[in-house]
Amino acid sequence: MGPEMIPRLYVAADLRPGLEIAADERAQHYLRNVMRRALGDPVVLFNGRDGEFQAEIARLDKRAVALRVAAKRREQDDVPDLWLCFAPLKKDAVDFLVEKGTELGAAVFQPVITRRTVSSRLNLDRLKANAIEAAEQTERLTIPEIRPAVELDALLRNWPRDRRMILCAEAGAAEPIADALSRITDDDGSVSKANAWGVLCGPEGGFHVSELDRLRDLDFVTPVGLGPRILRADTAALTALAVFQSILGDGRKRPPQPMLPIGTPESERAGGE
Ligand code: SAH
Repeated sequence: MGPEMIPRLYVAADLRPGLEIAADERAQHYLRNVMRRALGDPVVLFNGRDGEFQAEIARLDKRAVALRVAAKRREQDDVPDLWLCFAPLKKDAVDFLVEKGTELGAAVFQPVITRRTVSSRLNLDRLKANAIEAAEQTERLTIPEIRPAVELDALLRNWPRDRRMILCAEAGAAEPIADALSRITDDDGSVSKANAWGVLCGPEGGFHVSELDRLRDLDFVTPVGLGPRILRADTAALTALAVFQSILGDGRKRPPQPMLPIGTPESERAGGE
């Protein structure tokens, strides 16, 4: 990160021009020690609800850092309603999955215990912190939800019937993912505008045959293949997510304009109300 880079921070507080917000410990550490910012320096804030705002450091001393909210820069924009359901993996792999899955725009991470799931201890707080950091660095306006793990049985029992499940099936009949997603159409034949989705990926040991049989029989499940190679579970989940975004998700949108330097006249700034 260069010195001209404007820090972008997630905050829990409401955001409105004129408000002054106390930075929490994490934000203080980031601004002070990581980014080495000074009084008056610009920052960008979002909270997952109100859009994105320009702000500046209004107080910076040993005790506290306060941020004064200025103009709105972007209206709130949500990611597509896609749950990423995955069998818990080893610590590094699950950290990687949550970081990259956040970048790719997953709305919810749902750990699922399957028959061959090996590691099931997850530190949800650490995963949430990873997700916040990834969202900050990726221009996301929302933080994905990290849910506590559930058994596959419970996931299926409680699965909303109007939510389509894209099952990454390494064995048995499965249409190639791009074909399957392009053909999920609405009654008028156009690509589906259904707006509730989930991807389900198995553990490193794969799904048990009985699990795949059972999943295939459910009418909300579309089994898909990811090509001739057996992918690691994290690669498989992220691949499915990327293909989903480009066919049914927000892959056609463009990234926002970068924040302009301080001193740029208000009329030339992007966003705003
Ligand atoms: N050990 C298993 C592979 C598990 S790969 C075996 O040898 O068969 C982990 C998970 O990634 C799988 O359960 C599946 O959900 C997904 N996956 C990996 N490669 C895939 C592929 N080519 N097509 C569809 N799903 C795949």
